[in-house]
Amino acid sequence: LSEKLQKALRKLTGKGKISENDINQASREIRLALLEADVNFKVVKKFIKTIKAEALGKEVQESLNPGQQIIKIVNDELTKMMGSDTASIIEAKHIPTIIMMVGLQGTGKTTTVGKLANYLIKNKKARPLLIAGDIYRPAAIDQLKTIGASLDVPVYSENNTDVVAIVENGLMQADRNHNDYVIIDTAGRLEIDDQLMDELKNIVDVAHPENIILVADAMTGQVAATVAEGFNSKLKLTGLILTKLDGDTRGGAALSIREVTGLPILFTGQGEKLTELDTFHPDRMASRILGMGDMLSLIEKAQQDFDAKEAEKVAQKMRENTFDFNDFVDQMDQMQKMGPLDQIIKMIPGMANNPALKNFKVPDKQIAHTKAIVYSMTPAEREDPDLLNPSRRRRIAGGCGLSVVEVNRMIKQFKQAKDMMQKVTSGNFKGLSNLPGM
Ligand code: GDP
Ligand code: MG
Repeated sequence: LSEKLQKALRKLTGKGKISENDINQASREIRLALLEADVNFKVVKKFIKTIKAEALGKEVQESLNPGQQIIKIVNDELTKMMGSDTASIIEAKHIPTIIMMVGLQGTGKTTTVGKLANYLIKNKKARPLLIAGDIYRPAAIDQLKTIGASLDVPVYSENNTDVVAIVENGLMQADRNHNDYVIIDTAGRLEIDDQLMDELKNIVDVAHPENIILVADAMTGQVAATVAEGFNSKLKLTGLILTKLDGDTRGGAALSIREVTGLPILFTGQGEKLTELDTFHPDRMASRILGMGDMLSLIEKAQQDFDAKEAEKVAQKMRENTFDFNDFVDQMDQMQKMGPLDQIIKMIPGMANNPALKNFKVPDKQIAHTKAIVYSMTPAEREDPDLLNPSRRRRIAGGCGLSVVEVNRMIKQFKQAKDMMQKVTSGNFKGLSNLPGM
């Protein structure tokens, strides 16, 4: 599909602003891409609406076509939706910080308990205790014990079926041993049922965990969002961990879950090993969901190349002494679009990091006047400033509705700028103080 999408987007050519037509064509393909990534259809619908509003009338950057511009907007918006905030484990005021892991059967709870313990040891020099709260299958307790042993982390377990008592006793052991983190593994079911929820609620009531984390399987796509909604309504989750992202799933679950619950995604599971836990990166997830990683890096590169090419073009003109009013106007357009004079300044030795220049901008009004004056010139005049004798200047002033004084000032500035830039590009540069407006 990604290929299909790229083809469709390539068809959108032309410059200027993003049109209704551009959006309609692109949004069809974006909708498909998202649905194919198994994003919940309601979320897709809402998302497309946001994108339409966001993209319509947006200026298409010189280096991009409208399709690429829309993709860039989509990618930025996706990233924003999945949380620009970096979330982490909520720390308790007094140790231990309690983390309760919940989720359906087979999503990776027990494995993730181990992964998280490993993460806390590596990143916070933690001394965690694990509590085996999945009491229905003996194998589940053994599984956690094996994980604990491999990390050299204690596991609290009992051979009875009173899970609330087990958790209470486990917490008492953590107090005695001054463990700074307690991670509680719990039982899952194939689907949400009241019995499971009651049991989990009872654990919450005795443990008061700072963190109730839902472990969701990314491969289950939009089902994960429904499950998350169910768990959240009963338990007030604090965050999510999305597992099994090491497969070829596109990760639409991340977007759906985030949109439906508003909860932060803390980590992602990237494999069966206990080291395979990553902090969540919204930007990476966005490009994965879109399935357009290549396209996105292409867009980025196109922009960089374009800026560099434009800057080089100007330098070339300077060296050849063919910089004219047309270039001057182009240059101003370019500056207006780029904002600060970054690209040009980068070419000036020793100026690249001058903070005073970083945010320098030519005032919009000055640009408008300059353009008006240039547009009132004949093509020959635009290419050859030396033609501009007093009578021509008067005619130009009349044509653009500005005074002769203003026309003279602009021509003088042009000459100064040209002079200065010539010195810069020929290596005789002394300082920037002659640059108009500085
Ligand atoms: P639980 O029933 O929720 O406790 O799930 P488990 O922790 O027992 O995991 C179920 C299966 O999923 C096991 O085979 C794990 O090795 C596997 N698993 C867990 N997390 C991941 C992951 O991030 N990637 C992959 N590929 N497998 C995982
Ligand atoms: Mg388990």
